[in-house]
Amino acid sequence: MNLLLLEADDFIAADQVVLRGRRVQHLHEVHQASVGDQMRVGQIDGLMGSGDLLELTADQARLQVQLNQPPPAKLPLTLLLAMPRPKMFRRILQHCASLGVAEIILLNSYRVEKSFWQTPFLQPDAVRENLLLGLEQARDTRLPVVRIEKRFKPFAEDQLPALAHDRLSLVAHPGTAEACPRDVQQDCLLAIGPEGGWIPYEVDKLQAAGLKPVHLGERILRVETAVTALISRLF
Ligand code: SAM
Repeated sequence: MNLLLLEADDFIAADQVVLRGRRVQHLHEVHQASVGDQMRVGQIDGLMGSGDLLELTADQARLQVQLNQPPPAKLPLTLLLAMPRPKMFRRILQHCASLGVAEIILLNSYRVEKSFWQTPFLQPDAVRENLLLGLEQARDTRLPVVRIEKRFKPFAEDQLPALAHDRLSLVAHPGTAEACPRDVQQDCLLAIGPEGGWIPYEVDKLQAAGLKPVHLGERILRVETAVTALISRLF
């Protein structure tokens, strides 16, 4: 935890917070914190700054906070992601939050197993918790927006053309002719497929909506690795 994230209801005054639960445990076990220590803090979806530890017990911490710095800029990126398998999904959420992805759209695809949509990790609280872990890691306060689109065809036909319009819009697909561009410095939409890959019908639909197929070299990467490799290459 490189940033202690503060929830709105942690505040007991404009400049004081009381923390409980996981964050207090972390202060004890990882930071071995004691009264008088100063740490980096940030209000979720708000400013960052510093916090002075005024009181620390086994289950509670009180800090005086000063919030005066903006969080880092988000990447101008919407990630269109075929719903990954649950364990990988959790980690991908954390990676995306750490890397600064602005928006994630979880999409169904022919090769997404139906059971993946039943995972408890898709519950709003679980999504938020994993995004917060990623934000804490990278020192950011702003949560990426996460949307779920369970019907591929209506999404690809009715919504995607507008989302893809006026920005660099790509679908990562191994074996295509064109290499993924580097350091694009522009607003981007990137589609990444499921473990078994996009089927040809889906690639056609994504292309019809305005997404250009690109490859990342001859090595086929796991979805989780492809997400970080593609984002790093684009930005
Ligand atoms: N056998 C599948 C195929 O050929 O599409 C492999 C799918 S790969 C495990 C999962 C997703 O990661 C792909 O759909 C693609 O979006 C992305 N990906 C992985 N390696 C890639 C590469 N070398 N080039 C482009 N995309 C890649």
